[in-house]
Amino acid sequence: MDDHAARLTIDCSALRANWLTLDRLSGAAETGAVVKADAYGLGIETAVPALAKAGCRTFFVAHLSEAIRARAAAPESAIYVLNGFASGRMQDYVAHRLRPVLGSAGEIDAWRQRPEGAELAALHVDTAMNRLGLRLDAALSLVNTTSLADLGIGLTMTHFASAEEPDAADTRDQISRFSALQAVIQAPGSPNRAIPASLCNSSGHFIPGVPFFQLSRPGYALYGGNPTTGRPNPMQPVIRLEAPVVQILDVPAGEAVGYNGRWVARRDSRIATVSCGYADGFPRNAGNGPDHPGGTALVAGRECPFAGNVSMDLITIDVTGIPAASLKPGDFVTLIGDALDVDRVGAAGRTIGYEILTNLGRRYRRGAIGG
Ligand SMILES: *Cc1c(COP(=O)(O)O)cnc(C)c1O
Repeated sequence: MDDHAARLTIDCSALRANWLTLDRLSGAAETGAVVKADAYGLGIETAVPALAKAGCRTFFVAHLSEAIRARAAAPESAIYVLNGFASGRMQDYVAHRLRPVLGSAGEIDAWRQRPEGAELAALHVDTAMNRLGLRLDAALSLVNTTSLADLGIGLTMTHFASAEEPDAADTRDQISRFSALQAVIQAPGSPNRAIPASLCNSSGHFIPGVPFFQLSRPGYALYGGNPTTGRPNPMQPVIRLEAPVVQILDVPAGEAVGYNGRWVARRDSRIATVSCGYADGFPRNAGNGPDHPGGTALVAGRECPFAGNVSMDLITIDVTGIPAASLKPGDFVTLIGDALDVDRVGAAGRTIGYEILTNLGRRYRRGAIGG
């Protein structure tokens, strides 16, 4: 066992509870789960069975390789691959019963060559981002003239650019553009009336009055991220990251700590050095220096600031306020968990919680609780 590794614990019951919370919000619509990027760093093999146990039947990944792993973890689910379709991989899609998300005329054409028995694909419509998907005008003319079922398409979807800002003009615009497409799809006499649609990511679930259509696609909120930026987090924390204390040092006032001496003790201080660093995906920008307060850790139940730079394998923490008897080498401090949710850690590291999750390190001792 790696004694130096930080512990990453994934709470599967909190993950299930978060999916159920979003499922209640989406009303009659089905609630899926986005498990791309190895389930946002938690691990497909841990997250997918837990979500399936909660009742999730539809998963979204970015890459074909992730879809194949998701299929092994959820033998009966629908699995969509967001990042497009390469015709050379048709056999893999068919063999693993996967559903490509088509986003261009070329991909739609390539999917026409699918063999008998292939699953139905999704059609991605770009309503704002100019990133992935068919432009709205092209999608409108397609659904006007063609049966999507004949093309092997069984879902239309679009993706919000700023769902965490529910009042943003582009959020309202995207809802009205996608609704206009759905009105054409659902019009009397349309050959596409039975085709379901999907709009909402995590934050989308919290937009007042949002139309859910038939399927939602939350990711971040499932893993404990706050989908309501700037307001209290309605989700339960899912991950806990704890790093072992390697050494505790008395540092006299005036001495510097860490690389480049960016932190200087203003009083006689005690510094705990813990075994976790940017090589573990913990953001180097969470270092504490003259221009940035940086991160904090929960030490013996109290929040303590980092002291100086985050190094590759180590973080130094100012534990002057913690009674000496309450902390010794080998004890664990919490870097993510309780009051330190992934959004706070992201802000401390000058990034977003999504990046904190998807960078979760390969050296961690990983474990799961809550079945
Ligand atoms: C990543 C992604 C989602 C999930 O977004 P969250 O903000 O993590 O909920 C949904 N749909 C698409 C197309 C995505 O790429």
